[in-house]
Amino acid sequence: RKHLVWFRQDLRLTDNKALAAACEDKDATVYALFTAPLSQWEEHGVSERQVAFMHRHLEKLSEGLERIGIPLVCHVCGNFDDAARFVIDFCRREQIDDVFFNNQYELNEQRRDRWLEDNLPQETSLNRYDDCLLLPPGAANNRQGEMYRVFTPFKRTFLEKLGSADTGSLPQPERRLHVTRIKGSSSPFFPYEKVSFGAEYTPGEEAAIALLENFCREKVHDYDKTRDRPDLDGTSRVSAYLAIGVLSPRQCLNALLAEVPDAIWQSKGGGAVWLNELVWREFYYHLIAAFPRLCRYEPFLEWTDRIVWNANEADFRAWVEGRTGYPIVDAAMRELKETGWMHNRLRMIVASFLVKDLLVDWRKGERYFMSQLIDGNLPANNGGWQWSASTGVDAMPWFRIFNPVTQGQKFDPAGHYVRRWLPELKDVPEGDIHTPQLWAKKNHVVLDYPDPVVDHRQAREKTLNAFNAVRQKA
Ligand code: FAD
Repeated sequence: RKHLVWFRQDLRLTDNKALAAACEDKDATVYALFTAPLSQWEEHGVSERQVAFMHRHLEKLSEGLERIGIPLVCHVCGNFDDAARFVIDFCRREQIDDVFFNNQYELNEQRRDRWLEDNLPQETSLNRYDDCLLLPPGAANNRQGEMYRVFTPFKRTFLEKLGSADTGSLPQPERRLHVTRIKGSSSPFFPYEKVSFGAEYTPGEEAAIALLENFCREKVHDYDKTRDRPDLDGTSRVSAYLAIGVLSPRQCLNALLAEVPDAIWQSKGGGAVWLNELVWREFYYHLIAAFPRLCRYEPFLEWTDRIVWNANEADFRAWVEGRTGYPIVDAAMRELKETGWMHNRLRMIVASFLVKDLLVDWRKGERYFMSQLIDGNLPANNGGWQWSASTGVDAMPWFRIFNPVTQGQKFDPAGHYVRRWLPELKDVPEGDIHTPQLWAKKNHVVLDYPDPVVDHRQAREKTLNAFNAVRQKA
């Protein structure tokens, strides 16, 4: 039989359900395909960094597949429709008996796969797997069979089910008995910007697994204490690999359980808190599957669509360029632009600042994040933005507004993080680092750093009024 594995967001050999299933029949001829839908990526706002990162991983994947006797074909196309059409043509041309792929749950991806399913040649059968989540959407619904709208009960049900689910990781397939040959397979190519994604992101699944295991061995035990501190290197940094499927969440869970075997049943400690973050990832995926309109950038709470947002481009640019005059916001935004990654606490602070201090539409921030992030991922990014903007499911209450100064003082107390990204503040003393303008004025120092773009107290009042005005009409 002839098998085709269609790789999408699962660029790995280890613990890949579709690949493992396609390789089960030792006599089958196995082909691998990756489609690069350039205009679809552009429409989805995928960052140049993430595209470059994918490209490097595809090279690795291609080498790995070649070692086990499977050629990878990389096809550059426009949008998802073109990609699905190419798969169908490929099946006809190569007389494929079985197509294998791992499910994706975003709206356009689901549409593409439904269309493919309806249009595959009759003699080709389709084998789909739930692979990119610990439990598939719908597996942790409430008693009425619906998706939870609050995280805590979702998590309770989720962990109960997880405790008895088969979450073992699959090994890499062995080398095929018969090596598959195909005309036109070559090293993967699609145009991409040669952007740097930082030395910390070594391409390849071995590097990703090493990073994960090292984190679980060395850092996860203290994660509950260090996770909120951007000045400490306390988080795993696996998000970039998870986003394009170089790692699977099962690998994350199993690496965690190897160090903290009871993590699923614990309510505190570093292991349980890290698992909690993996469950947030699942929560947001389950939400977009249950409420596909979230993929269309609609707020979960419809009344929030009546808020009159601030369209002042200069305010938005100040945020983008890290010139708001609030050091913790500016340092984080400069790190994002420079590296494509930002600590979770900082993502919450800068998102809150854009929406609740500048009153800019959260969707502009969401889109800008996608354009920069190396770990850009629609469910998590949308979830994070809607949480911060108070427009989402189980979001921060709309009247709770982070104070960017006290957030900085609390989570970067000595200013080590801020100084790393804002060298112009290097001489400001520790105690004044989050209010450098006050220090400069008192000491008659001229700083090459802007005054705050808004007064936090006034901005807060304005935002409360804007939310309140439309909420009363709800
Ligand atoms: P760790 O703290 O080590 O966590 C382990 C993993 O759990 C992460 O890699 C991630 O997959 C998952 N995770 C952790 N926190 C969250 C969370 N709050 N929501 C969902 N999953 C989580 N994460 C992305 O992967 N892609 C995004 O595009 C993204 N955009 C965000 C936007 C905003 C406004 C906010 C507030 C959060 C966003 N997050 C996003 C979630 C989180 O900030 C990152 O996952 C995390 O900072 C990645 O670093 P890490 O791998 O060291 O995380």
